[in-house]
Amino acid sequence: MIPQIPTIDLEPLNEYLGQVSSRGRTMLLPALHEAQRLYGWLPREVLEVISRGLRVPLADIHGVVEFYTMFYNEPMPKRVIRVCEDPACHLAGGEGVAEVIEALVAADERVAFERVPCLGMCELAPVGLAGERPGAHLSEGVAKAFVAGTHPEPKAEVYGTERLLTMRLGKVDPLSLADYKGAEGYDVLRWVMTLAPEKVIEVVESLGILGRGGAMFPLGRKWHFTRGAAGSPAEKHIVANADESEPGTFKDRCLMEEDPFALIEGMTVAGYAVGAENGWIFVRGEYPRSFARLQGAVEAARAAGYLGRDILGRKGFHFDIEVRLGAGAYICGEETALFEAIEGKRGFPRIKPPFPTTHGLFQQPTAINNVETLVAMVAGLRVGPKKWRALGTEGSPGTKLFCVSGEVAKPGLYELPFGATVAELIEMAGGCTEGEVQAVLMGGAAGVFVGPEQLGMPLTYEDAKVANVPLGSGVVMVFGEKADLRQALYQLSRFFAHESCGKCFPCQLGSQRQMEILARVAEGETKEGDRIMLADIGFAMTETSLCGLGQTAASAVLSALDQWPELTK
Ligand code: SF4
Repeated sequence: MIPQIPTIDLEPLNEYLGQVSSRGRTMLLPALHEAQRLYGWLPREVLEVISRGLRVPLADIHGVVEFYTMFYNEPMPKRVIRVCEDPACHLAGGEGVAEVIEALVAADERVAFERVPCLGMCELAPVGLAGERPGAHLSEGVAKAFVAGTHPEPKAEVYGTERLLTMRLGKVDPLSLADYKGAEGYDVLRWVMTLAPEKVIEVVESLGILGRGGAMFPLGRKWHFTRGAAGSPAEKHIVANADESEPGTFKDRCLMEEDPFALIEGMTVAGYAVGAENGWIFVRGEYPRSFARLQGAVEAARAAGYLGRDILGRKGFHFDIEVRLGAGAYICGEETALFEAIEGKRGFPRIKPPFPTTHGLFQQPTAINNVETLVAMVAGLRVGPKKWRALGTEGSPGTKLFCVSGEVAKPGLYELPFGATVAELIEMAGGCTEGEVQAVLMGGAAGVFVGPEQLGMPLTYEDAKVANVPLGSGVVMVFGEKADLRQALYQLSRFFAHESCGKCFPCQLGSQRQMEILARVAEGETKEGDRIMLADIGFAMTETSLCGLGQTAASAVLSALDQWPELTK
């Protein structure tokens, strides 16, 4: 039974609901966040008020609360300390630090402690969140300050040979619209508005940008389809997928935190080209700093006439953005699950087709793009297709962001033209700090492991395709010669078992069985047949799961076992 709070002041919640109730169910996630901010957790009495206020059945609200790990339906302190337990942090000694922090927190009943999946700050490992405050390079020495909220907040570590997407990172005040404009900000939007929307799409297509969340769908083509779909601008949407939750990935966080106006400008360009008036940014719940900065930037852009009605004085060009916060569900990075979350439902992926370009958010035409994709488009238009295509290769033009983490001297965000090899990138990051490179996880948890003999692979879409190595979201996680790959495999499998939404059996059951076997293997208790069992489970998940999560949940594991069969011996 859910414990009740005897005296709870529902007035502030009622006041909030009074402001948003006309929008109904789509305000469910924001209302739950607001209620949890007010009360620390979500007792039944609070959910009943939300149910009446938004006219959503109480049973549905319970379903939503239970789906998202950052909503609590049991008593919980308002302040939560979260420490990452995924591979990059583990390699940096995160487990020992987590134990120290857990012991510190145990003495204070006003604070809760959680070990959580990847927090998207792998370049700063080991990391945690103290309430909404990110903490980096955690150690026994800084544990007290981290828990107390006095450990200095980290900045993004950004490097690169050709900084087009990251030109402002670390160089301007991310909260200042004046700084943004002073660094070529909004030049692209002004130029784009001199062209017909169809021409803008044509120029964007000439940049040859593929979706950078992992799916690699051509950006210009997606806009073309959405523009051509039936519906008025008021019925069309531009969605920025900022639910960056792939372990090892942190590029979108760096962009949103250090250059939020670039994303807003990119979405406004998209709104103009596609003919859509509604913009949405869905940010993962573990990125409170990105959320706050984006909200501030949206308000500043709106106040200065860069968002809203008749943008920059152009009669009839209306576009505005709403920033939404997730609540701890990796699956919401799947585009249709993300729509469900904005609509106030559990983040279950939809069956496709129909595709988002005709039936997306609210079943209306939607262009959903990854954060880096939109920022790359703005960078490409700023320098022009000629210069953009002069970088990289014919099949992979321009520059790309890579998230380098693990056992290298200078982990961080690297921007370089497509075409450098994995070895060169590792060299740029100061080389492996733990002897020779044993393995590199490419593309994230849903990617594959490569061994030392594959480090000569150029980082381009065409080379990656030949080598069967996904570039995915640009993850390059380095494991030195002493790293325990069995542990890494277990951590990846634990991640997928935790994040499977449970909608389809192959993934729901397969991810659990995969984790159980790898947990045992990580403890050195291998059994004959483990490898065959893992291959069978992996095959079933890959071939029969409904969405990309289940279809890739075994890929890193299978790639490791293919190369190093001794891992299950
Ligand atoms: Fe959910 Fe996994 Fe099925 Fe995707 S594959 S719908 S995450 S259970």
